[in-house]
Order: sequence, then structure tokens, then C-alpha cells
Amino acid sequence: MAIIPVRCPHCHGCDLSKFGKTRTGKQRYACNNRECPYHTFTLEPHAYPGRRQEVKAQIVDMAVNGSGIRDTARVLGVSTSTVIHELKKRRKTRERESSSVSNA
Ligand SMILES: [Zn+2]
Repeated sequence: MAIIPVRCPHCHGCDLSKFGKTRTGKQRYACNNRECPYHTFTLEPHAYPGRRQEVKAQIVDMAVNGSGIRDTARVLGVSTSTVIHELKKRRKTRERESSSVSNA
């Protein structure tokens, strides 16, 4: 059996404990480094592309450039509801920002 050394992807520390399993059965680890900004992680982060930060940014970019929801979903390999959810989230943030400006 091969032993793969596990390191925290955030602080690269090796002081880790096993921390149960994810819903999909992957091993989850807890980082014991107190300086580390993340408490737990898995070795395969986010199998679903819609949960990745760069894909979320692409959803917004494509909407700005005039792509429809179904275009975006097909190109990025996510579901249409992920696209809608992401765009709604962005609009809420923008509304909050603009209302705080007008209140000032
Ligand atoms: Zn860490």
C-alpha cells in the first residue's frame, strides 16, 4: 500500500487529523494549525465545477458579455440553476452596495 503524505492545501502544514467523510465518501481532514485560515479540507476539492470560485467568476463574465443562462450552463458544465443562483447573488451584492452609497 502506498502512503501519500497529506498536507493542508492552505498552510501546507502536516499536522492533520482525519475528520470524517464527506457526503460523497471522500476523506475529510482537519488542519491542526491554529494560524490556518481553514479548519477542514478534502484532497479533491469541489468535484462539481459550479462550486469552484473560478467557474463562478466565469458565470458572471459570460452574463456580462451577453451569454444566456443556458449557453453559460452548457459551456461551463454546470446546471442552469447554478447559473441563476450565482447571478442573483451578484445582483443582491450590487444592490446592497448601491443602496449604501445613496444612504450616505
Ligand atoms: Zn492548514
